[in-house]
Amino acid sequence: MEAKVPFQSVIAIDGPSGAGKGSVSRAIARALGCRYVDTGAMYRAVTWLAVQKGLSLDDEAALSALAGRVRLTLEETTVTVEGHDVTSAIRTREIDAAAARVARMPAVRAVLVARQRAYAADGRIVMEGRDIGTTVFPEADVKVYLDASPGERAARRASDPARESSISDASLSDVASALEARDRSDRTRQISPLAMADDAVLVDTTGVPLERVVERVLAIVRERLAAR
Ligand code: C5P
Repeated sequence: MEAKVPFQSVIAIDGPSGAGKGSVSRAIARALGCRYVDTGAMYRAVTWLAVQKGLSLDDEAALSALAGRVRLTLEETTVTVEGHDVTSAIRTREIDAAAARVARMPAVRAVLVARQRAYAADGRIVMEGRDIGTTVFPEADVKVYLDASPGERAARRASDPARESSISDASLSDVASALEARDRSDRTRQISPLAMADDAVLVDTTGVPLERVVERVLAIVRERLAAR
């Protein structure tokens, strides 16, 4: 809790879906008194708006233009697009799959990565995603890669209260196979695939309660910042 975070420092939290990035990143940002940015929500928000507008999800030029001009606010627990609260609307199974597809497009990534870098200009930040430590902020002060077994990640996703309505009727095996397909897409795309940065610290959260994971990550943050 008492870790001092220098101005403009970035704490990068990466990992696959269901590894606990969201809960852990929010808790870390709260403990450090700094801003939290969920980059997955940015890919989701652009995708959601594209669907609303009836754009083709293959139209890279239109999607990247949209990504550049969309008015987006990311608060700790709320996401808005053009002033509309889309916090729940962007967390459906349809948007899960569509966002992973949109996230494969280099032009969309270039625009969103630039927007992500701009957030750091305001000072200290905890940013979660898939490529924060590898591409967005290769110079991040602290890089943590959260992972968990596929079974546990699927179980967490299935019981995520933020998603209750969208998957209440889905069996765990449906959730597990959708998660696996999305992971495969994220890990195998040509640009900025999900990967652990060489200098990241791996934290396996399988079977570990959230509070313990947060303690461990805070310890890593303190250690890394003290070493700088
Ligand atoms: O983290 P979340 O599941 O909300 O991310 C939604 C999708 O956005 C991911 O499946 C991934 O395809 C994409 N994403 C990404 N790079 C990031 C964050 C998310 O490609 N930094």
